[in-house]
Amino acid sequence: MTVSVTGATGFIGRRLVQRLRADNHSIRVLTRSKSKAEQIFPAKDFPGIVIAEEPEWGKCVQGSTAVVNLAGLPISTRWSPEVKKEIKDSRIRPTSKVVELINNSSAEARPTVLVSATAVGYYGTSETGVFDENSPSGKDYLSEVCREWEGTALKANKDVRVALIRIGVVLGKDGGALAMMVPFFQMFAGGPLGSGQQWFSWIHVDDLVNLIYEALTNPSYQGVINGTAPNPVRLGEMCQQLGSVLSRPSWLPVPDFALKALLGEGATVVLEGQKVLPVRAKELGFEFKYKYVKDALRAIMQ
Ligand code: NDP
Repeated sequence: MTVSVTGATGFIGRRLVQRLRADNHSIRVLTRSKSKAEQIFPAKDFPGIVIAEEPEWGKCVQGSTAVVNLAGLPISTRWSPEVKKEIKDSRIRPTSKVVELINNSSAEARPTVLVSATAVGYYGTSETGVFDENSPSGKDYLSEVCREWEGTALKANKDVRVALIRIGVVLGKDGGALAMMVPFFQMFAGGPLGSGQQWFSWIHVDDLVNLIYEALTNPSYQGVINGTAPNPVRLGEMCQQLGSVLSRPSWLPVPDFALKALLGEGATVVLEGQKVLPVRAKELGFEFKYKYVKDALRAIMQ
């Protein structure tokens, strides 16, 4: 395959590029910063990789067999009105751009697959509900962002297979939620955030990359697929398991008001969660390597 990837320089994208390269696929990195991408993917380690800034994205998409769309500003920051606008725009803009480029490519040179990220935030938050791919969308800001993000990807031409991966909290070594949590635990200052009762629908980054890879290559992967492990946990349990794997206590709870003071409205991302099940992935026969959070954490922290 020849795969164009937006957000390739990020936490998930870097792992996906490694995976695609290991299987000898051609990769085209669609980035905002060629110099940053060249540092992440130096030519000596990634021979043949094509790196392109936006005016050149068209040439890359034209002739690719597939596109993976992962671009987006991280949401775990303090949400000012400007940041909220950028959280949405940074997802809609690149999605809209790649869809336009796919649709404008000549029919023979058009990618036949678009795998586009979205998030479990689509469902809103709940301490009691259980969500699968057929559950309705929530009513909060992040659900609105996800609806628009997904709707934009679905504007791809009808002859393009679109898979929307509703991603949960991704666990891996070099980024994501653990990069923020682990330092506190290592300083003996880790503990649950807020009540600890909020659901934490996680996925190991290797499983997510395998799911994206399957979606690229298997024609049965179409429409919405939750990218979460089969056994979500409450955040309190996740912190206990993390403490146990790191041989550190999980004793210092961070109260709601402190997080709200730090992150403003953005605190909802950590104070509220949702229990999401990967029903479609299971129906499709996807094999999760990491089904339990303790195994995932052990593998990551080894
Ligand atoms: P990262 O933040 O690590 O990387 C995302 C990439 O998006 C960056 O490398 C950057 O690429 C691009 N980007 C960043 N800011 C902007 C911006 N303002 N405008 C346009 N592009 C921007 O994200 P992850 O790899 O963690 O996540 C990938 C996708 O998956 C994101 O869309 C995210 O929302 C989604 N997701 C991730 C989860 C997680 O736990 N990690 C959970 C749920 C969803 P470049 O600089 O090369 O253009």
